[in-house]
Amino acid sequence: MLKTPEEFVESLRELNPTVYIRGNKVESIADEPLLEPGINAISLTYEYALLPEHKETMTATSHITGKTVNRLLHINTSQDDLLKKLEMVRLLCRETGCAQRYLCHDALNALYECTHNIDLEFGTDYHIKFLNYLESVQEKDLTTCVAMTDAKGDRTKRPHEQHDPDLYLRIVDRNAQGIVVRGIKAIVTGAPYTHEIIVLPTRNMTQEDRDYAVSFAIPIDTPGVELVSREAGRPGQSGAPLSSRYGQATAQILFDDVLVPWDRVFLAGEWQLAGSLTESFATHHRLSCIGARAGLGDMLIGATCSLAEANGLDTQKTGHVRDKIADLIKYVESFYACGVTSSVFGSETRAGNFLPDPIYSNIGKLMQGTHIYDMYRIAQDTSGGILVASPYPEDMESPDIGERLNRYLQGREDIPADYRISIARLLEDIVASYQGGWYSVISISGGGSPEATRLEIMRKYDIDERKSLVEKITGV
Ligand SMILES: Cc1cc2nc3c(=O)[nH]c(=O)nc-3n(C[C@H](O)[C@H](O)[C@H](O)COP(=O)(O)OP(=O)(O)OC[C@H]3O[C@@H](n4cnc5c(N)ncnc54)[C@H](O)[C@@H]3O)c2cc1C
Repeated sequence: MLKTPEEFVESLRELNPTVYIRGNKVESIADEPLLEPGINAISLTYEYALLPEHKETMTATSHITGKTVNRLLHINTSQDDLLKKLEMVRLLCRETGCAQRYLCHDALNALYECTHNIDLEFGTDYHIKFLNYLESVQEKDLTTCVAMTDAKGDRTKRPHEQHDPDLYLRIVDRNAQGIVVRGIKAIVTGAPYTHEIIVLPTRNMTQEDRDYAVSFAIPIDTPGVELVSREAGRPGQSGAPLSSRYGQATAQILFDDVLVPWDRVFLAGEWQLAGSLTESFATHHRLSCIGARAGLGDMLIGATCSLAEANGLDTQKTGHVRDKIADLIKYVESFYACGVTSSVFGSETRAGNFLPDPIYSNIGKLMQGTHIYDMYRIAQDTSGGILVASPYPEDMESPDIGERLNRYLQGREDIPADYRISIARLLEDIVASYQGGWYSVISISGGGSPEATRLEIMRKYDIDERKSLVEKITGV
């Protein structure tokens, strides 16, 4: 059943996770001001699912129960589902900057495919366990975070070769109740204010790494789980129009000999298929990254044009501004176009769900991860220094100096200074603040580094076919 945003926040009160921020233990997640922008961003995913105008984009019919579910919890059963997922993520992220909950969609889809494949190969019963889990997630309209990235220690060494055996999360015991896991997942978005953690392996494994080949789902307040989190966005900052309202917390999740019951275990030692689970998640997730950054791009295009106009520049007639805005649009829409292509060329897996085309999802992710800096350059160049020099709202409204600030900081005659400065603050928030840095780092590293996407492109692209074409043309 679809939850309202209020029910989502209330449901967080029923959980009691151990969360630290700046060394202090958080008493109540739902009431913690430092996390409020993150909770607001996820709440929007609940709110939009209930709005008639977004129903088609935001909801779907579950193929396992026939019930209406939030699309973020839906298993893609067609190319159209992939396209709608892409549109949904853009829609949510153009409001929130990053709606976070799409990670959950990507993990559920990867597990749907891979538990099926593991069962086929090893005669295990992970898929049915996963389907039970999926049904309960859909029924309760839950939000999960996704903990894939391990601490990884020395990057040139495999998990079992590290100087400390716990630098990748691993199974330390197996008993009648379940598996016991120890270690850390190092970068997890939105974790404190989610209901569940889905754990996935971060890379391919060898036989010696079999204890590191592990996937499961547990409630966020499971005994032995501790989170060390950043605040979400820039809470309480008056000069942060976007990120005081919507933000994202990133957390470390520590697992101190945590018992995971067998019915929530989806991979435990089948090292041969760990890499395919990582890869499937990455393929789904890179499509989401494209939608998310296109949403951010929408904000950037709107704000850059508005500020240029408030400065008296004409985005159609001032030649260099027009060219820069056209380039900005080109960057955003070209990586989004890769997302559309990846969806349209998506294909059915052996499990029956649909996987985005990996070449285009990786190319799109690579483009957004590198062009984010071109996008930022254009916004900063076009806007000028006011981006980091605008007075705070309190100063603009001050009885002592507000009137003079409003007079002197006006650009074009018919556009009030307050409007100009508000847009400058929004742009600062997106491209020149702590949050702006966060958006650029998530663009380049979130969903995998540019190198990881290049490797995937080179692995999957049919270069031999292109070489044979040349042979055909030249006849040699
Ligand atoms: C804001 C943000 C949110 C995130 N949210 C999540 C989340 O919710 N869940 C999650 O699981 N992860 C999350 N991530 C993690 C993200 O997936 C990783 O940052 C990404 O996979 C890169 O891993 P890393 O940060 O450990 O960097 P590294 O792996 O250390 O990479 C740094 C550089 O080293 C290179 N490198 C690494 N290993 C090698 C090697 N063996 N040989 C040569 N070069 C190498 C890389 O190509 C890269 O250039 C998030 C990241 C960010 C920035």
